[in-house]
Amino acid sequence: MVVFLLTACGASVSAGPDAVVAGFYPLAFAAEEVAPGVPVENLTPPGAEPHDLELSPIDAASVRDARLVLLLGQGFQPQLEDAAGEGDNVLHLLDTAGLDLLPNGDPHVWLDPVRYAKIVERIGEALDAEQAASRLVARLQELDADYHEGLATCERHEIVTSHEAFAYLAQGYGLEQIPITGLSPEAEPQPADLARVVDLVDERGVTTIYYETLVSPRIAETVARETGAETAVLDPIEGLTPAEIANGEDYFTRMRANLRALEEGLGCH
Ligand SMILES: [Zn+2]
Repeated sequence: MVVFLLTACGASVSAGPDAVVAGFYPLAFAAEEVAPGVPVENLTPPGAEPHDLELSPIDAASVRDARLVLLLGQGFQPQLEDAAGEGDNVLHLLDTAGLDLLPNGDPHVWLDPVRYAKIVERIGEALDAEQAASRLVARLQELDADYHEGLATCERHEIVTSHEAFAYLAQGYGLEQIPITGLSPEAEPQPADLARVVDLVDERGVTTIYYETLVSPRIAETVARETGAETAVLDPIEGLTPAEIANGEDYFTRMRANLRALEEGLGCH
């Protein structure tokens, strides 16, 4: 009897066979934009950080039952990748979107609007929504043009970041990323790494240390204090906070906020 109840309960709360299930915000946003009306479930809760997402049994049922599972792959969310396996309903975007991947293992491809546009196209194909996908791609091309224009003439080009998430953004617009910690935001910097970053900040005249919204700014603040630099938010757009959602923010508003933060911190004009 208990077993029956648990099973019935699990079945009734999975997102269901019509749903698209996405590992984290940028994939969920793309699906929502290209296929309005299709139920989209983001497995990473608002305000949570998607690296090393842990799935509940309900999430695992949603992944199993979904019409389409969108995940980045290559170890960005290992538990989701294990649960999804190689099922027919699973789309591994790093492997199938025709992206030109950097060799450093950085998964944060969506921070480059050009590569994110390829992900959008791939999701559009999978959902039979190519026309809506091309409208979203056009908005991304406009965003890319604004980045090129906004970052064309700057006094500095180094971005010191608390989380090594901006290699694709840096490559797209001629910036140099100086990360304080590693590819996963939870990594703790060693004292020698901190000392190296502090030296670089002094040497290059960096004025702004960037930190992100979903993890503590403590490390960025330490570097800022030791160098006299200021701190500012550079959002890796891995998820929106509840406050951002309440303000109607989305990928585009966060990308444009990042552009303003870069223009200010790098002295662009
Ligand atoms: Zn990240």
